[in-house]
Amino acid sequence: MTAGKGLVIVYTGDGKGKTTAALGLALRACGHGLRVLMVQFIKGGRATGERLAAPNLPGFELRAMGEGFTLPGHSQKSWPEHRRAVAAAWDYAKKRALSGEYRVLILDEINYVLAHPELAEALPTAQVLDFLRRRPSELHVVLTGRRALPELVAAADLVTTMEAVKHPWADQGLPAQRGIDF
Ligand code: ATP
Ligand code: MG
Repeated sequence: MTAGKGLVIVYTGDGKGKTTAALGLALRACGHGLRVLMVQFIKGGRATGERLAAPNLPGFELRAMGEGFTLPGHSQKSWPEHRRAVAAAWDYAKKRALSGEYRVLILDEINYVLAHPELAEALPTAQVLDFLRRRPSELHVVLTGRRALPELVAAADLVTTMEAVKHPWADQGLPAQRGIDF
């Protein structure tokens, strides 16, 4: 079987399902023996279900390299700390992906970073576009997060916008649930 053309895939929009769509894709790819690296920007300390499950999926490597939520009042960390985490996550993702050992690279919440005035300083969009152009031709790259930039959408082969029709938090005030939201 030939390797096939690597795709640039963007999951964006305000509806729920971007990160979980990327995780579903990871599960599917690993089933075929394709190695997957998922680097999570923003997300840090929390023991999410995907972090706990990752060691059980051969060929799947998950790195949560963020400093936690960046919304005012939700983060103990300063902007420079967040920016350092963004730079380290990008550096790691890029180096590992260029090593050629993965077929799928997932950059979780990177769209949010690129669109954020305080965070984008640490990762100019031009660097991401440059990486996409130079990457190994068979590497699929998945970029998730709200507010994907038009430049990224233009560079992508596949773009899906999740539309929020209903959400239990927004509509019923229900808190995030284990196994569903994290
Ligand atoms: P998931 O990780 O569940 O696939 P996501 O990646 O699409 O969600 P993010 O923007 O990363 O969504 O937000 C993560 C958190 O925000 C999740 O806990 C999710 O349930 C919650 N969330 C997502 N969409 C909405 C919404 N429309 N209203 C309120 N909360 C939301
Ligand atoms: Mg997400």
